[in-house]
Amino acid sequence: MTRLALVGFRSDANSSYMRGAASAPPLIREALRCESSNCWSESGIEVGPDRFFDAGDVGEEPGREGDTPARIEAAIGHLLDQGLAPISLGGDHSITYPILRAFAKRHPRLTILHFDAHPDIYDEFEGNRLSHACPFARIMEERLAQRLVQVGIRCATAHQRAQVQRFGVEMIEMKDFRRAAPLRFETPVYVSFDLDALDPAFAPGVAHREPGGLSTREAIDVIAAVDAPIVGADVVELNPAQDVSGMTAMVAAKIVKEIAGRMLAGGD
Ligand code: MN
Ligand code: MN
Repeated sequence: MTRLALVGFRSDANSSYMRGAASAPPLIREALRCESSNCWSESGIEVGPDRFFDAGDVGEEPGREGDTPARIEAAIGHLLDQGLAPISLGGDHSITYPILRAFAKRHPRLTILHFDAHPDIYDEFEGNRLSHACPFARIMEERLAQRLVQVGIRCATAHQRAQVQRFGVEMIEMKDFRRAAPLRFETPVYVSFDLDALDPAFAPGVAHREPGGLSTREAIDVIAAVDAPIVGADVVELNPAQDVSGMTAMVAAKIVKEIAGRMLAGGD
């Protein structure tokens, strides 16, 4: 039986455009507990607060932001070593690289299912190789996953397209999404969900609003159709300062619930 853990990473020092994602984890927790909805995932599995071990938050220490990746990697490693399957609440997307460093040591065969408007695979961005625009370059260089599948992409640059080729990434661009073949997975799956994959009409509370994205419904359907065990996940880039009456926090909580339901249901 899969046992889930919830952990928040209150970090946004590697955001390129706008800070604020560091304050997201408590708001996603609050939305998860909100009595406007219930604790049942669409797959018929109850994912209430008692289904999670809550590992609390890891904060960014002012002046010591450089230590944050090692602290994230240690926190995830600790949860995995206890047999827990962690769902991480961001924070900006830079957290996924240290999370995957911890996962790769314990899950040698992984496919990452990455939802995002952006490929996040710049070799470096504005001089920062740990920028939230770069985590998947680091992950693929270090071979922390066997396969990377990206969904929702709609502003890949020429450099990022070259990086996608170089690393053999399967990038399903938004313009091709409706014609794409169903995804099939041969290994356990890690889901990395950047909320800007969703259209800003559904999720305005992000730093980088990119029109023309997925509906919440389409994203949930992709998660529900994963035909392999999901062993971990992150939901990142909620920026509360950009949110409209907490609606994106509710979307983040819904995505967490649906991923959690899928994780507890197991894989085929
Ligand atoms: Mn993004
Ligand atoms: Mn991202």
